[in-house]
Amino acid sequence: MDKQLLLDLNKDELAAELKKLNQPGFRTKQILEGIYKHHYRDFSEFGNIPNSLRAELDPNYQIDPIAISDSIVSKDKRTIKHLFEVQKGNRIETVLMKYSDRNTVCVSTQVGCPLGCVFCSTGQMGFTRNLSSGEILGQILFIMRTLEADGEKLSNIVFMGMGEPFLNYSAVIRSIETLTDADLLNFGARRITISTVGIISKLKEFTELDSQVNLAVSLHAPENELRSRLEPANRMNPLKALIAACKEYTDKTRRRITFEYALIDGINDSETQAKQLISLVKGILCHVNLIALNPSKDYSLPGSPRERVDAFAKILTDYGIPCSIRLRRGIEINAGCGQLAQSQRTE
Ligand code: SAH
Ligand code: SF4
Repeated sequence: MDKQLLLDLNKDELAAELKKLNQPGFRTKQILEGIYKHHYRDFSEFGNIPNSLRAELDPNYQIDPIAISDSIVSKDKRTIKHLFEVQKGNRIETVLMKYSDRNTVCVSTQVGCPLGCVFCSTGQMGFTRNLSSGEILGQILFIMRTLEADGEKLSNIVFMGMGEPFLNYSAVIRSIETLTDADLLNFGARRITISTVGIISKLKEFTELDSQVNLAVSLHAPENELRSRLEPANRMNPLKALIAACKEYTDKTRRRITFEYALIDGINDSETQAKQLISLVKGILCHVNLIALNPSKDYSLPGSPRERVDAFAKILTDYGIPCSIRLRRGIEINAGCGQLAQSQRTE
Protein backbone atom coordinates (compact mmCIF):
# COMPACT_ATOMS: atom_id res chain seq x y z
CA MET A 1 0.00 0.00 0.00
CA ASP A 2 1.25 3.45 -0.87
CA LYS A 3 1.53 5.82 2.05
CA GLN A 4 -0.74 8.88 2.30
CA LEU A 5 1.08 11.78 0.66
CA LEU A 6 1.00 14.93 2.75
CA LEU A 7 1.41 16.88 -0.51
CA ASP A 8 -1.99 15.54 -1.58
CA LEU A 9 -3.72 17.20 1.37
CA ASN A 10 -4.86 20.80 1.51
CA LYS A 11 -4.61 22.79 4.75
CA ASP A 12 -7.97 21.65 6.15
CA GLU A 13 -7.39 18.03 5.25
CA LEU A 14 -3.98 18.04 6.95
CA ALA A 15 -5.51 19.60 10.06
CA ALA A 16 -8.20 16.87 10.10
CA GLU A 17 -5.58 14.15 9.67
CA LEU A 18 -3.51 15.50 12.59
CA LYS A 19 -6.62 15.80 14.71
CA LYS A 20 -7.23 12.09 14.15
CA LEU A 21 -3.76 11.54 15.61
CA ASN A 22 -4.78 13.64 18.64
CA GLN A 23 -2.29 16.37 17.82
CA PRO A 24 -2.76 19.95 19.01
CA GLY A 25 -3.89 22.52 16.42
CA PHE A 26 -0.50 24.24 16.10
CA ARG A 27 1.09 21.11 14.63
CA THR A 28 -0.66 21.78 11.32
CA LYS A 29 1.14 25.09 10.92
CA GLN A 30 4.48 23.56 11.94
CA ILE A 31 4.15 20.77 9.41
CA LEU A 32 2.94 23.09 6.64
CA GLU A 33 5.91 25.36 7.28
CA GLY A 34 8.31 22.45 7.18
CA ILE A 35 6.95 21.20 3.87
CA TYR A 36 6.22 24.42 2.01
CA LYS A 37 8.60 27.01 3.48
CA HIS A 38 11.64 24.87 4.33
CA HIS A 39 10.97 22.29 1.61
CA TYR A 40 11.70 19.34 3.92
CA ARG A 41 11.04 15.98 2.38
CA ASP A 42 11.70 13.71 5.32
CA PHE A 43 10.17 13.69 8.79
CA SER A 44 13.67 13.53 10.32
CA GLU A 45 14.24 17.10 9.11
CA PHE A 46 11.41 18.50 11.24
CA GLY A 47 13.33 19.72 14.29
CA ASN A 48 10.15 21.32 15.61
CA ILE A 49 8.00 18.22 16.05
CA PRO A 50 8.47 15.59 18.78
CA ASN A 51 10.13 12.27 18.00
CA SER A 52 6.98 10.42 19.06
CA LEU A 53 4.95 12.14 16.34
CA ARG A 54 7.64 11.51 13.73
CA ALA A 55 7.56 7.82 14.67
CA GLU A 56 3.78 7.83 14.33
CA LEU A 57 3.83 9.52 10.94
CA ASP A 58 6.58 7.46 9.37
CA PRO A 59 4.76 4.15 8.76
CA ASN A 60 1.63 5.64 7.18
CA TYR A 61 2.54 9.01 5.74
CA GLN A 62 5.03 10.37 3.29
CA ILE A 63 5.63 13.96 2.18
CA ASP A 64 6.98 13.34 -1.24
CA PRO A 65 6.52 10.41 -3.61
CA ILE A 66 9.48 11.21 -5.85
CA ALA A 67 12.29 8.66 -6.28
CA ILE A 68 14.87 9.67 -8.83
CA SER A 69 15.45 6.99 -11.41
CA ASP A 70 17.65 8.78 -13.95
CA SER A 71 18.86 12.27 -14.85
CA ILE A 72 20.40 13.51 -18.04
CA VAL A 73 22.16 16.82 -18.47
CA SER A 74 22.48 18.50 -21.87
CA LYS A 75 25.95 19.36 -23.22
CA ASP A 76 25.55 23.01 -22.29
CA LYS A 77 24.34 21.90 -18.81
CA ARG A 78 21.34 24.18 -19.09
CA THR A 79 18.67 21.50 -19.60
CA ILE A 80 18.34 18.74 -17.02
CA LYS A 81 15.85 15.99 -17.53
CA HIS A 82 14.83 13.79 -14.63
CA LEU A 83 13.05 10.49 -14.84
CA PHE A 84 11.17 10.07 -11.56
CA GLU A 85 9.47 7.06 -10.10
CA VAL A 86 6.20 8.05 -8.43
CA GLN A 87 3.59 5.97 -6.62
CA LYS A 88 2.75 2.51 -7.95
CA GLY A 89 6.21 2.36 -9.58
CA ASN A 90 5.14 4.55 -12.52
CA ARG A 91 7.68 6.74 -14.25
CA ILE A 92 7.33 10.33 -15.33
CA GLU A 93 9.59 13.08 -16.58
CA THR A 94 10.37 16.52 -15.25
CA VAL A 95 12.63 18.91 -17.11
CA LEU A 96 14.50 21.90 -15.68
CA MET A 97 15.45 24.54 -18.22
CA LYS A 98 17.95 27.16 -17.09
CA TYR A 99 18.00 30.46 -18.91
CA SER A 100 20.16 33.50 -18.22
CA ASP A 101 17.28 35.29 -16.50
CA ARG A 102 15.05 32.48 -15.22
CA ASN A 103 14.73 28.81 -14.26
CA THR A 104 11.71 27.01 -15.66
CA VAL A 105 10.40 23.58 -14.74
CA CYS A 106 8.26 21.54 -17.11
CA VAL A 107 6.05 19.16 -15.09
CA SER A 108 4.05 16.06 -15.99
CA THR A 109 0.36 15.71 -15.16
CA GLN A 110 -0.31 12.13 -16.26
CA VAL A 111 1.62 8.89 -16.65
CA GLY A 112 1.50 8.75 -20.46
CA CYS A 113 -1.40 10.40 -22.31
CA PRO A 114 -4.54 8.96 -23.89
CA LEU A 115 -4.75 11.50 -26.73
CA GLY A 116 -2.22 10.02 -29.15
CA CYS A 117 -0.91 13.09 -30.99
CA VAL A 118 1.16 11.46 -33.72
CA PHE A 119 4.32 13.51 -33.23
CA CYS A 120 4.44 13.18 -29.43
CA SER A 121 6.50 10.57 -27.57
CA THR A 122 4.07 10.61 -24.64
CA GLY A 123 1.13 10.08 -26.98
CA GLN A 124 2.94 7.14 -28.54
CA MET A 125 3.33 5.37 -25.18
CA GLY A 126 -0.38 5.33 -24.29
CA PHE A 127 -2.04 6.15 -20.98
CA THR A 128 -1.52 4.63 -17.55
CA ARG A 129 -3.11 6.98 -15.02
CA ASN A 130 -3.57 10.53 -13.77
CA LEU A 131 -1.03 11.92 -11.32
CA SER A 132 -2.31 13.17 -7.98
CA SER A 133 -1.80 16.82 -7.03
CA GLY A 134 0.89 15.66 -4.58
CA GLU A 135 2.75 13.86 -7.34
CA ILE A 136 2.62 17.06 -9.42
CA LEU A 137 3.82 19.19 -6.47
CA GLY A 138 6.53 16.63 -5.65
CA GLN A 139 8.17 17.27 -9.04
CA ILE A 140 8.20 21.01 -8.39
CA LEU A 141 9.53 20.72 -4.84
CA PHE A 142 12.29 18.42 -6.03
CA ILE A 143 13.41 21.04 -8.57
CA MET A 144 13.12 23.82 -5.99
CA ARG A 145 15.44 21.89 -3.66
CA THR A 146 18.06 21.22 -6.33
CA LEU A 147 18.06 24.88 -7.36
CA GLU A 148 18.29 26.04 -3.73
CA ALA A 149 21.33 23.81 -3.22
CA ASP A 150 23.02 25.93 -5.93
CA GLY A 151 21.76 29.20 -4.46
CA GLU A 152 19.16 29.59 -7.21
CA LYS A 153 15.39 29.84 -7.33
CA LEU A 154 12.62 28.52 -9.51
CA SER A 155 11.01 31.30 -11.54
CA ASN A 156 8.47 29.61 -13.85
CA ILE A 157 6.37 26.46 -13.96
CA VAL A 158 4.92 25.06 -17.19
CA PHE A 159 2.43 22.19 -17.26
CA MET A 160 3.90 20.89 -20.52
CA GLY A 161 5.45 17.57 -19.56
CA MET A 162 3.80 14.18 -20.01
CA GLY A 163 0.03 14.19 -20.19
CA GLU A 164 -2.92 16.46 -20.87
CA PRO A 165 -3.52 18.80 -17.88
CA PHE A 166 -7.19 19.34 -18.78
CA LEU A 167 -7.86 15.59 -18.59
CA ASN A 168 -6.60 15.72 -14.99
CA TYR A 169 -8.23 19.04 -14.25
CA SER A 170 -9.05 18.73 -10.55
CA ALA A 171 -5.55 17.54 -9.52
CA VAL A 172 -3.92 20.25 -11.66
CA ILE A 173 -6.08 23.00 -10.17
CA ARG A 174 -5.53 21.61 -6.66
CA SER A 175 -1.75 21.69 -7.19
CA ILE A 176 -2.03 25.30 -8.40
CA GLU A 177 -4.03 26.22 -5.30
CA THR A 178 -1.18 24.95 -3.11
CA LEU A 179 1.44 26.62 -5.30
CA THR A 180 -0.21 30.03 -5.17
CA ASP A 181 -1.45 30.00 -1.54
CA ALA A 182 0.46 32.71 0.35
CA ASP A 183 0.67 30.44 3.42
CA LEU A 184 2.09 27.57 1.36
CA LEU A 185 4.39 27.91 -1.67
CA ASN A 186 3.34 31.50 -2.45
CA PHE A 187 4.28 31.11 -6.13
CA GLY A 188 2.92 33.78 -8.49
CA ALA A 189 0.09 32.53 -10.70
CA ARG A 190 1.40 34.71 -13.54
CA ARG A 191 4.56 32.61 -13.56
CA ILE A 192 2.62 29.39 -14.19
CA THR A 193 1.43 28.19 -17.61
CA ILE A 194 -0.93 25.35 -18.47
CA SER A 195 -0.62 23.92 -21.98
CA THR A 196 -3.60 22.05 -23.39
CA VAL A 197 -4.32 20.26 -26.63
CA GLY A 198 -7.66 22.10 -26.42
CA ILE A 199 -10.30 20.21 -24.43
CA ILE A 200 -13.18 22.64 -24.94
CA SER A 201 -15.33 21.76 -21.93
CA LYS A 202 -12.39 22.24 -19.55
CA LEU A 203 -11.25 25.38 -21.30
CA LYS A 204 -14.68 26.82 -20.53
CA GLU A 205 -14.36 25.76 -16.91
CA PHE A 206 -10.92 27.35 -16.77
CA THR A 207 -12.35 30.57 -18.23
CA GLU A 208 -14.93 30.66 -15.43
CA LEU A 209 -12.20 30.14 -12.85
CA ASP A 210 -10.73 33.48 -13.94
CA SER A 211 -7.27 32.41 -12.76
CA GLN A 212 -4.14 34.45 -13.43
CA VAL A 213 -2.37 31.29 -14.58
CA ASN A 214 -1.34 31.57 -18.25
CA LEU A 215 -2.94 29.40 -20.89
CA ALA A 216 -1.31 27.88 -23.98
CA VAL A 217 -3.22 25.91 -26.63
CA SER A 218 -1.37 23.47 -28.90
CA LEU A 219 -2.78 24.34 -32.30
CA HIS A 220 -0.20 22.90 -34.75
CA ALA A 221 -2.55 23.05 -37.77
CA PRO A 222 -4.83 25.74 -39.20
CA GLU A 223 -7.58 23.45 -40.53
CA ASN A 224 -9.61 20.54 -39.18
CA GLU A 225 -8.58 17.73 -41.47
CA LEU A 226 -4.83 18.13 -40.88
CA ARG A 227 -5.31 18.90 -37.18
CA SER A 228 -7.35 15.73 -36.66
CA ARG A 229 -4.58 13.73 -38.31
CA LEU A 230 -1.89 15.27 -36.10
CA GLU A 231 -3.94 15.62 -32.91
CA PRO A 232 -6.84 13.11 -32.85
CA ALA A 233 -8.40 15.05 -29.93
CA ASN A 234 -9.42 17.59 -32.58
CA ARG A 235 -12.20 15.24 -33.74
CA MET A 236 -14.05 15.80 -30.46
CA ASN A 237 -12.83 19.38 -30.08
CA PRO A 238 -12.97 20.79 -33.62
CA LEU A 239 -11.12 23.97 -34.52
CA LYS A 240 -14.08 26.28 -35.00
CA ALA A 241 -15.52 25.51 -31.55
CA LEU A 242 -12.04 25.52 -30.00
CA ILE A 243 -11.19 28.93 -31.43
CA ALA A 244 -14.58 30.26 -30.27
CA ALA A 245 -13.79 29.00 -26.75
CA CYS A 246 -10.35 30.64 -26.92
CA LYS A 247 -11.95 33.93 -27.95
CA GLU A 248 -14.39 33.65 -25.09
CA TYR A 249 -11.45 33.06 -22.73
CA THR A 250 -9.54 36.15 -23.89
CA ASP A 251 -12.68 38.32 -23.98
CA LYS A 252 -13.80 37.30 -20.51
CA THR A 253 -10.44 37.24 -18.74
CA ARG A 254 -8.64 39.93 -20.81
CA ARG A 255 -5.64 37.62 -20.73
CA ARG A 256 -3.49 36.78 -23.72
CA ILE A 257 -3.57 33.19 -24.92
CA THR A 258 -0.50 31.48 -26.40
CA PHE A 259 -0.96 29.29 -29.46
CA GLU A 260 1.71 26.63 -29.81
CA TYR A 261 2.56 25.67 -33.39
CA ALA A 262 5.23 23.03 -34.07
CA LEU A 263 6.40 23.34 -37.67
CA ILE A 264 6.73 20.02 -39.51
CA ASP A 265 8.64 19.97 -42.78
CA GLY A 266 6.18 20.09 -45.69
CA ILE A 267 3.14 19.31 -43.51
CA ASN A 268 1.94 22.51 -41.81
CA ASP A 269 4.56 25.11 -42.72
CA SER A 270 3.46 26.57 -46.09
CA GLU A 271 2.67 30.19 -46.87
CA THR A 272 -0.99 29.24 -47.42
CA GLN A 273 -1.13 27.57 -44.00
CA ALA A 274 0.44 30.64 -42.36
CA LYS A 275 -2.36 32.71 -43.93
CA GLN A 276 -5.00 30.20 -42.79
CA LEU A 277 -3.57 30.48 -39.29
CA ILE A 278 -3.88 34.26 -39.46
CA SER A 279 -7.56 34.03 -40.46
CA LEU A 280 -8.14 31.64 -37.57
CA VAL A 281 -6.55 33.67 -34.77
CA LYS A 282 -6.98 37.28 -35.90
CA GLY A 283 -9.07 39.28 -33.46
CA ILE A 284 -7.97 37.10 -30.54
CA LEU A 285 -5.63 38.56 -27.90
CA CYS A 286 -2.86 36.07 -28.57
CA HIS A 287 0.76 35.25 -29.10
CA VAL A 288 1.96 32.48 -31.42
CA ASN A 289 4.92 30.34 -30.31
CA LEU A 290 6.61 28.62 -33.23
CA ILE A 291 8.97 25.69 -32.76
CA ALA A 292 10.49 23.29 -35.27
CA LEU A 293 9.17 19.81 -34.44
CA ASN A 294 11.43 17.55 -32.40
CA PRO A 295 11.54 14.23 -34.26
CA SER A 296 10.37 11.29 -32.12
CA LYS A 297 10.67 7.52 -32.41
CA ASP A 298 7.45 6.69 -34.26
CA TYR A 299 7.16 9.91 -36.20
CA SER A 300 10.07 10.32 -38.50
CA LEU A 301 9.17 13.58 -40.26
CA PRO A 302 11.65 16.32 -39.49
CA GLY A 303 10.98 19.75 -38.13
CA SER A 304 10.95 22.58 -40.66
CA PRO A 305 14.30 24.05 -41.60
CA ARG A 306 15.20 27.36 -40.01
CA GLU A 307 14.47 29.40 -43.20
CA ARG A 308 10.89 28.04 -43.30
CA VAL A 309 10.37 28.76 -39.61
CA ASP A 310 11.59 32.33 -40.18
CA ALA A 311 9.42 32.76 -43.29
CA PHE A 312 6.35 31.46 -41.44
CA ALA A 313 7.07 33.83 -38.53
CA LYS A 314 7.49 36.78 -40.92
CA ILE A 315 4.07 36.21 -42.48
CA LEU A 316 2.46 36.30 -39.03
CA THR A 317 4.39 39.33 -37.78
CA ASP A 318 3.84 41.26 -41.04
CA TYR A 319 0.13 40.81 -40.43
CA GLY A 320 0.53 42.02 -36.85
CA ILE A 321 0.17 38.72 -35.02
CA PRO A 322 2.76 38.67 -32.20
CA CYS A 323 4.93 35.64 -32.60
CA SER A 324 8.17 34.19 -31.29
CA ILE A 325 10.39 31.29 -32.27
CA ARG A 326 11.20 28.88 -29.47
CA LEU A 327 14.54 27.15 -29.60
CA ARG A 328 14.59 23.40 -29.32
CA ARG A 329 16.03 22.70 -25.93
CA GLY A 330 18.16 19.72 -25.03
CA ILE A 331 17.40 17.85 -28.22
CA GLU A 332 20.41 15.54 -27.75
CA ILE A 333 19.04 14.41 -24.36
CA ASN A 334 15.56 13.61 -25.67
CA ALA A 335 14.16 16.57 -23.76
CA GLY A 336 11.02 16.63 -25.90
CA CYS A 337 7.83 15.64 -24.15
CA GLY A 338 7.94 11.97 -23.10
CA GLN A 339 11.13 11.16 -24.92
CA LEU A 340 13.29 9.97 -22.01
CA ALA A 341 10.62 7.73 -20.55
CA GLN A 342 10.07 6.24 -23.99
CA SER A 343 13.75 5.59 -24.68
CA GLN A 344 13.98 3.79 -21.30
CA ARG A 345 11.01 1.62 -22.12
CA THR A 346 12.50 0.48 -25.39
CA GLU A 347 15.93 -0.37 -24.00
N1 SAH B 1 -0.92 17.79 -23.45
C1 SAH B 1 -0.57 19.17 -23.44
C2 SAH B 1 0.73 19.46 -22.72
C3 SAH B 1 1.85 18.51 -22.87
S1 SAH B 1 2.60 18.51 -24.45
C4 SAH B 1 -0.55 19.71 -24.85
O1 SAH B 1 -0.62 18.93 -25.79
O2 SAH B 1 -0.49 20.94 -24.99
C5 SAH B 1 3.52 20.04 -24.40
C6 SAH B 1 3.77 20.65 -25.78
O3 SAH B 1 4.75 19.89 -26.50
C7 SAH B 1 2.52 20.72 -26.66
O4 SAH B 1 2.46 21.97 -27.32
C8 SAH B 1 2.80 19.61 -27.65
O5 SAH B 1 2.05 19.76 -28.81
C9 SAH B 1 4.29 19.75 -27.83
N2 SAH B 1 4.98 18.61 -28.43
C10 SAH B 1 4.76 17.30 -28.23
N3 SAH B 1 5.62 16.57 -28.97
C11 SAH B 1 6.41 17.44 -29.64
C12 SAH B 1 7.48 17.30 -30.56
N4 SAH B 1 7.90 16.10 -30.93
N5 SAH B 1 8.04 18.44 -31.05
C13 SAH B 1 7.60 19.66 -30.67
N6 SAH B 1 6.60 19.87 -29.81
C14 SAH B 1 6.00 18.76 -29.30
FE1 SF4 C 1 -0.98 14.17 -25.01
FE2 SF4 C 1 -0.09 16.69 -25.33
FE3 SF4 C 1 1.35 14.60 -26.22
FE4 SF4 C 1 -0.93 15.25 -27.43
S1 SF4 C 1 0.94 16.51 -27.33
S2 SF4 C 1 -0.30 13.18 -26.89
S3 SF4 C 1 -2.18 15.91 -25.74
S4 SF4 C 1 0.88 15.06 -24.13
